[in-house]
Amino acid sequence: MSTYRVLITGEDIQKKVSEIAGKISTDYRDRHPILIGVLKGSFVFMADLVRKLSIPVEIDFVQLASYEAGRETSGCVRLVRKLETPVKGRHVLVIEDIVDSGLTLSFLLDYLGRQQPASLKVCAMFDKPSRRNIDVPVDYVGFTVPDEFFVGYGLDFNQQFRCLPDLCILEEQN
Ligand code: 5GP
Ligand code: MG
Repeated sequence: MSTYRVLITGEDIQKKVSEIAGKISTDYRDRHPILIGVLKGSFVFMADLVRKLSIPVEIDFVQLASYEAGRETSGCVRLVRKLETPVKGRHVLVIEDIVDSGLTLSFLLDYLGRQQPASLKVCAMFDKPSRRNIDVPVDYVGFTVPDEFFVGYGLDFNQQFRCLPDLCILEEQN
């Protein structure tokens, strides 16, 4: 059995999504950006965000794996699903659920950067800067969070809890 406690409510998350959507809509006006979601965790944030934007966007997804199972990172990143949309000359905004060590994002920025986009920025709903191993730029951040293991709002523990509307701290598993 696993227990969890709420750190940020779904209501506060939704307010933050509206705020970020407002900024992105202003910054990317007339740029027709491609939003690239990092599966699986970002699917909830992506779905909320795109419905609050007031500009046209395209979306695509990549899937990267670094956490093999459970809570610990394996230290290596694999591309599990490639991008379908050509991004050369396009304005690209990466949509992440949470940035932790920065390893996944650093790998992805390198992969995307080699395809020569017109611009490349990052939007993450949650950021754990105290855990950073690799310096990565995060241009839009929802919430800075402490060094805990979170579930909910797209984040899982062994594929569970992604559907919780709140950001929760996983407290114990037996
Ligand atoms: P990083 O490569 O920055 O260490 O980790 C990035 C990925 O690890 C995130 O996109 C997310 O999928 C996963 N991750 C990082 N921190 C957490 C967390 O607290 N909870 C869960 N469920 N996944 C996390
Ligand atoms: Mg992720």
